[in-house]
Amino acid sequence: MIYSSFPQAQYQARRAEIDAAMSRVVNGPSYILGHEVVAFEREFAAYVGVDYGIGVASGTDALLLTLRAMGIGRGDEVITVSHTAVATAAAIGLAGATPVFVDIDPRYFTLDVTGLEAAITPKTKAIIPVHLYGQPADMDAIVAVARRHNMKLIEDCAQATGAAYRGRLAGSIGDAGCFSFYPTKNLGGIGDGGMVVTNDPQLAESLQMLRQYGWRDDRNSHVLGTNSRLDEIQAAILRVKLPYLDADNARRRAIADAYDRALAGSNLAVPARRDEASHIFHLYVVRTQERAAVQERLKRAGVAAGIHYPVPVHRQPAFAAFAPSGGLPETERAATEVLSLPMYPELDEAMIGQVVQRL
Ligand SMILES: *Cc1c(COP(=O)(O)O)cnc(C)c1O
Repeated sequence: MIYSSFPQAQYQARRAEIDAAMSRVVNGPSYILGHEVVAFEREFAAYVGVDYGIGVASGTDALLLTLRAMGIGRGDEVITVSHTAVATAAAIGLAGATPVFVDIDPRYFTLDVTGLEAAITPKTKAIIPVHLYGQPADMDAIVAVARRHNMKLIEDCAQATGAAYRGRLAGSIGDAGCFSFYPTKNLGGIGDGGMVVTNDPQLAESLQMLRQYGWRDDRNSHVLGTNSRLDEIQAAILRVKLPYLDADNARRRAIADAYDRALAGSNLAVPARRDEASHIFHLYVVRTQERAAVQERLKRAGVAAGIHYPVPVHRQPAFAAFAPSGGLPETERAATEVLSLPMYPELDEAMIGQVVQRL
């Protein structure tokens, strides 16, 4: 069986280093917010090219705590897309704010800026573009709208660790960048984890308080905080993996190139790449109107293909109340046509050959 993703392969490939890192924590002085988290926050922020990194428990919490740290909540509106992991919209709702969904550009599966201005009201406080599948959204245009309307810009980078837009890394362009280290993400832990990056020292300080009971160094609660800490063991594992990330992303791109070549001229539409960005292929997503048949035939040949995402967020029960009255035609169409082919750096030539042959 060829899985659509297989994070254990990465552990097996770097087993000695990862085991040593875990052992270092287990035999070390502190299991929570110790040396490993502090070092990883510094290393990750430097990698993205920003001043501050604040480790949190998940990508969902990265988004939620960023909204809270910005003072966004009840009575406020936040614009995002419906063609995304539900966590993007859940974070907005959990903050107490209202998610406002705009449609996607069907070429790139990211926020379509032509619908953005029309979605803005006096209550709009922020925009959360999602760099979906590993490709940055249309950031020049989105930054311009956010500036013009004085709105916060929060990048959902959960699928785009290491992707770049005009030479800047995803997460360094907006007011904050939110990352997930869920095991299948491009930089994945062996468990949950997340990070917020920013150049804003006040936002960083608020996030440090919010992730741990509202504490400052005096261990008094200064704001209403939660417990959303990045685990020391996850940080140690992620420190092992970060130096390999660019090579892993290059390997994903090489696999994408092989798929592109194999599918040229077929009735499967291959993913379009923006000239001004580097796509790091968290997922390699084709489009076809015969998705069910293609998926079933691949499955019978031992190849797993996933669907990201079969039901748009605004069509799911918890978010139906936020569905725009006219619907979201491109989002709804994409949900019926997208198919994610196997994609992870440890796929070898024989496996790629097998997928390509089956296709
Ligand atoms: C994975 C993901 C999240 C949530 O990250 P978790 O670590 O699972 O909470 C948010 N947004 C997008 C686009 C994602 O893919």
